[in-house]
Order: sequence, then structure tokens, then C-alpha cells
Amino acid sequence: MNQPHSTRDFEGLAALVTGGASGIGAAVAMALRDRGARVAVLDRDPTGAPAGTLPVAADVTSDEAVRAAVAETVAAFGALHTVVGNAGIGAVGTVEDTADEEWQRLLDVNVLGLVRTARAALPHLRAATADRPGCVSITHTCSIAATAGLPQRAAYSASKGAVLALTRAMAADHIREGIRVNCVNPGTVDTPWVGRLLDRAADPAAERAALEARQPTGRLVSAQEVAAAVAYLAGPSAAAVTGTALAVDGGMQGLRLRPE
Ligand code: NAD
Repeated sequence: MNQPHSTRDFEGLAALVTGGASGIGAAVAMALRDRGARVAVLDRDPTGAPAGTLPVAADVTSDEAVRAAVAETVAAFGALHTVVGNAGIGAVGTVEDTADEEWQRLLDVNVLGLVRTARAALPHLRAATADRPGCVSITHTCSIAATAGLPQRAAYSASKGAVLALTRAMAADHIREGIRVNCVNPGTVDTPWVGRLLDRAADPAAERAALEARQPTGRLVSAQEVAAAVAYLAGPSAAAVTGTALAVDGGMQGLRLRPE
């Protein structure tokens, strides 16, 4: 995936990836870069932004910071065609052991962070549609947690359920302007985030095995596999695709296997 991609379907396009300095977002930034896009990486800690991208420090909980980051991206690239709203945080717990502050933090980052990003980007996306019809898009990183009941993920699942509904509502609002809005629903992805979860487990190896077994493919999804799905949804091949959620989850959502 670090090799230049064989298709350059993002040539001439300018992209912004939030949370692009780690995990899925970094893989997305590399995938778009390798397909020819100029890519800005908005992150609260952009030190891990992939080579060849423009790191922009901003926290998606600040409307002012997000607007400034979008303005900086447009100033650098002259336009904005592709937005990937990916920055997100997790929380472990049931409704009984998740405090109100935690709920508010999750919704602020995972849901309102996307709203702030879209609000700042939409005028620029609208301006880009005449130039590259079909190529102007917003893609959100949602989660399998939006559609499947996962234990100990009450606030996280609620935030991702909101992301799914937000994606569809935005797709309806902006279709006539030529802006497509979709999301990916990853299963458990091998990223630093999951590494941190495993580090906190009493038995990290057993916890990892349990996460792998939860996915019918028997392994975790790679960040590159999610990035390839995002690149498809955001790119010209998906010009007829909007308001959709693409599961990249090792079969978690759709399959019901019999125990071996
Ligand atoms: P990660 O922790 O490796 O990367 C997240 C990035 O987002 C980091 O660079 C972090 O600095 C940035 N970020 C977090 N809060 C921010 C904020 N307030 N403002 C700006 N940047 C911020 O995590 P990841 O696993 O790559 O997850 C990325 C997205 O994928 C999240 O939305 C997450 O919910 C989603 N997701 C992850 C998994 C998984 O198993 N890893 C599964 C489904 C969905």
C-alpha cells in the first residue's frame, strides 16, 4: 500500500482526512495520496501524518480550529474535492457505568466533529462540483457498532448509530448539489487504538483471539482494507453511490455461522 497505486483516479483532486495521523485515517491518507490526490491530514496530533501529506493541527471539537484547518487546506491546494471524516474516539462500558461527561465527549468528537468538518468544507465542495462532477464526496468512518449490538460499547455504539443516520441525512441534503456522502462500517481493525485496548486487557493475547474469533474471517481487518473501501466510495468509480454504508468487517454484519 506504500507503493504508488496502479490507478491514479484522484489525480488533480484535493482531499482532507480527519484523524489522518494514525490507524485507519493514516491508511486512507496514503491510499488517496498514492492514487494521485493532494492530501491534508487534520489531527489533534498530526506528527504521524504520512509522508507527502500536509499536516494540519486541529481538534474536531473546536469549530474555529476546524474552519481554520479547512481554510489552510484550500489555501494550500486551491480547492477541496474529497473529505474523509474519520477522527473518532472510543469508550468501554454499559449505560450504567458510562458517565454523562463520557457520553458528551463521545458525541462531541464522533458526531459533532463530523458536523463541524462538513460545515466548514461544504462551501468549498460545492464550488468544486463543476470542475469534477461525480468526484466530490464526504466519506465517514462509521462502525459495525452502528448496526450490531456489541457488549460494553453503549456510548460508542450510540455515537456511531448517529454517524450512520447523519451520513444518510447529509446524502439526501446534498445529492442535488452533486456532493455524495457515504460511510464505511469497519469491524475490528488492527490499529493503535485496538493495540491500546489490548494493552489494558488482563490477558491481551486471549482478548486478541476473542476479537479475531468474533469476525467470521477469523482475523482482524487491516487499516489498508478499510482505506481501499474509502478510496472506492470517495472516488469516481462510485459516482452513482451515495447514502450508503459499506461494511468492511470480515463478515460480522451479514453472516451467521454454525459453531464448528
Ligand atoms: P486511532 O486512535 O489509531 O486514530 C485516531 C486518530 O484520530 C488519531 O490520530 C487521533 O489523534 C485522532 N483524533 C482523535 N480525536 C481527535 C480530535 N478530537 N480531533 C482531531 N483528531 C482526533 O484510531 P483508529 O482505529 O484508526 O480509528 C479511526 C476511526 O475508525 C474512528 O472514527 C473509529 O471510531 C473508527 N473505527 C475504528 C475501528 C477499529 O477497530 N480500530 C473499528 C470501527 C471504526
